[in-house]
Amino acid sequence: MTARVTTRSARGGTLVLGGGFAGSYVARLLGSAGATIVSHENFMLYTPLLPEAASGTLEPRHVVVPLRVMCPHAELLLGRATALDESTRCVRVVTEHTQVDVAYQQLVVALGAVSRSLPIQGLAEHALGFKTLADAIHLRNHVLRRLEAAAADPQRALPHLTFVFVGAGYAGVEALAELSDLVHDALRYYRELKGVPQRWVLVDAASTILPEIPRRLGEYAARQLAARGVDILVSTTLASVDADAATLSDGTHIETRTLVWTAGVTAHPLLADLGLPLDERGRVVVRPTLQVEGRDDVWALGDCARVPNEATPGHPDPPTCQHALRQARRLAKNLRGEPRPYRYRMLGQVATLGRHKGIADVLGIRLRGFPGWFATRTYHLFQLPLVSRKLRVVTDWTVALFFRRDIAELSMLGHPESLERR
Ligand SMILES: Cc1cc2nc3c(=O)[nH]c(=O)nc-3n(C[C@H](O)[C@H](O)[C@H](O)COP(=O)(O)OP(=O)(O)OC[C@H]3O[C@@H](n4cnc5c(N)ncnc54)[C@H](O)[C@@H]3O)c2cc1C
Repeated sequence: MTARVTTRSARGGTLVLGGGFAGSYVARLLGSAGATIVSHENFMLYTPLLPEAASGTLEPRHVVVPLRVMCPHAELLLGRATALDESTRCVRVVTEHTQVDVAYQQLVVALGAVSRSLPIQGLAEHALGFKTLADAIHLRNHVLRRLEAAAADPQRALPHLTFVFVGAGYAGVEALAELSDLVHDALRYYRELKGVPQRWVLVDAASTILPEIPRRLGEYAARQLAARGVDILVSTTLASVDADAATLSDGTHIETRTLVWTAGVTAHPLLADLGLPLDERGRVVVRPTLQVEGRDDVWALGDCARVPNEATPGHPDPPTCQHALRQARRLAKNLRGEPRPYRYRMLGQVATLGRHKGIADVLGIRLRGFPGWFATRTYHLFQLPLVSRKLRVVTDWTVALFFRRDIAELSMLGHPESLERR
């Protein structure tokens, strides 16, 4: 049966596709002018804190911000945008129960990117992703289950205690560092695993880890990880993976039950169907005002767009939160008044390496170790929207300083047994 199609108009005439970093900020900054946001979830995920949600340092709910609270003047339409008709200025949205054609006067495309997958044998079936809150919670539960499996058979524990991360950008490095902290702390409660070795492996096709940060800080990060026993295999790729092992391009065979795929992002597949101009990487091409090439009423920003930056001629913005946020500020102003070009000079970069260590390059000042970790946390606290969210995060961090980590494995959450089976 075909779902009924209803029609409606976007609040204030502005329709925002995607409630991620970029889209949510545009809607928030439009204030009482209002907007309609189309999003799969009713929250915005603050991705830089995702590794800490995976390790249990932060409560998962505290790394997301409810869109209805963050954007009180916006209307939220929970669903998936599936098609654009520019001739009628309408976007088709599929919701849980119906299909809606939403009419707009101004359209903002902020669909983000999707995890980059490659045709590697076994990747789709056996690798774990790390992009969404569900990925982070699943990974935490998976790791804790590996510890239980190892404890059940300590003689054959190593494959369960071997964790392979493919992709040594921010997401991979921070996730590995946080999860190795989780395992380190949790093992105190597993007496049967005392003295049993564990193995952490970080694989990347590039010749260095964290290529996006200054070399000296990247080298410091590599030394820190190596000092805590992480095998860093650069200029290496994943050849295949199955339920029991990963094989690398140099022939190395690693017995493991955990392969985490953090090898970057690629263009959102829906962009190819919208009929908007795309660059060679599948991103929407926008002018310096953030208006889509050849259009005055369609705008794009964030990871889904190729955004020229007047402060860095010839170098479009990289896919980061801080750029998405600055683009959102410009775009919201342009929607309200005379469009002006976007211009933003990056203030710095920060990353945590677990165990109270981090790296930060802020306004040319390079910090590492504890000062780097402190600067990273301060920066995120500053960036996180809503005072209530900041307070919850500070509370979690404070509790983590005084109490040991929670190691409850909660994969049954959201999957209650049916009444008949109880
Ligand atoms: C694990 C991880 C860690 C990161 N760490 C950092 C960091 O430390 N610092 C940093 O600067 N950047 C970091 N990033 C990058 C940062 O998250 C992105 O650059 C930023 O989120 C881009 O914002 P966006 O709005 O373009 O995309 P997103 O935030 O991804 O938002 C896109 C939104 O569109 C929604 N959507 C997708 N398809 C549809 C559809 N068909 N219909 C409706 N809605 C749809 C998605 O559900 C999502 O909510 C990290 C990314 C990841 C994955």
